[in-house]
Amino acid sequence: MDTFHADLHCHTYISDGSDSPEELIRLAIEKGLSGLSITDHDTVGAYSRALTFAEQQSFPLLPGVEFSASFRGDSVHILGYAFSLKSEEIKQFCEGHFERRRHRNSKILEHLKQLGISIEEEELENIGQMSETVGRPHIAMLLVQKGVVKSLKEAFGTFLGEGKPAYDPGEAISVEKTIEVIHKAKGKAVLAHPHLIKRSSTLKAMLEMPFDGIEGHYPRLTPIQQNRWAELAKEKKWILTGGSDYHGNIKPQNNLGAAWIGKETFELLYTHYVQIASSS
Ligand code: AMP
Ligand code: ZN
Ligand code: FE
Ligand code: FE
Repeated sequence: MDTFHADLHCHTYISDGSDSPEELIRLAIEKGLSGLSITDHDTVGAYSRALTFAEQQSFPLLPGVEFSASFRGDSVHILGYAFSLKSEEIKQFCEGHFERRRHRNSKILEHLKQLGISIEEEELENIGQMSETVGRPHIAMLLVQKGVVKSLKEAFGTFLGEGKPAYDPGEAISVEKTIEVIHKAKGKAVLAHPHLIKRSSTLKAMLEMPFDGIEGHYPRLTPIQQNRWAELAKEKKWILTGGSDYHGNIKPQNNLGAAWIGKETFELLYTHYVQIASSS
């Protein structure tokens, strides 16, 4: 790859990906990427290791995270970038998510039990032993292992997806609160994969929220779709971001680097991070 490509959306096994933080950075270097942000769900746990490794490799790694939020019952994902990794607000917020997930997972297992499918808490702990944010993907893997379903997709389609019999929304954490926490940590809040928001009234409401950016480059979006987000970003003076949503072999269709941003946007975010990191 001879031009500057930075992938700003990917997951490690600290949430629900399959690669370690070091493997992910190594893969990014192998693929010729010029920058990366690891955006694990509801945790920044990868960064203690990832920053050290990236520094050893002289590879630019931008702090990132993908928070789960909820708006009138719809799930909305919010990316945070270039925030202070020392922020107490972020730390506490991630701890809150950890508790939210623990409660929700127990409820999902209860729903499954009522459907005659037995999964012990211990089995879930084992399959998610590297993860700080165990959730539905891990439960889905167990359902495949037990032969209840053939694929993760079927697990979500039959049991775990929104509105399915074992679904549990868990405690709702608002979009406003999530953006506020990212801002308190001096970071930029970005609306993740807006094309995946099903209800148009929810998307419309999101566009009125105090975001700093929107994720307009994502695998399998057509040039016309990407253009639509680019125009919107321009109109709102929002940063246009992008990334692959790589999860390793858990979502093999999303290759690292399949969506990316160029040098200008990466440097804007990276410079912001260097500034706030040196002042905190
Ligand atoms: P959770 O954070 O526990 O609510 O799980 C949500 C995650 O599950 C998403 O970020 C995806 O990685 C994954 N996911 C959601 N829907 C599906 C699906 N239909 N098939 C496979 N994975 C899915
Ligand atoms: Zn995920
Ligand atoms: Fe997401
Ligand atoms: Fe993601």
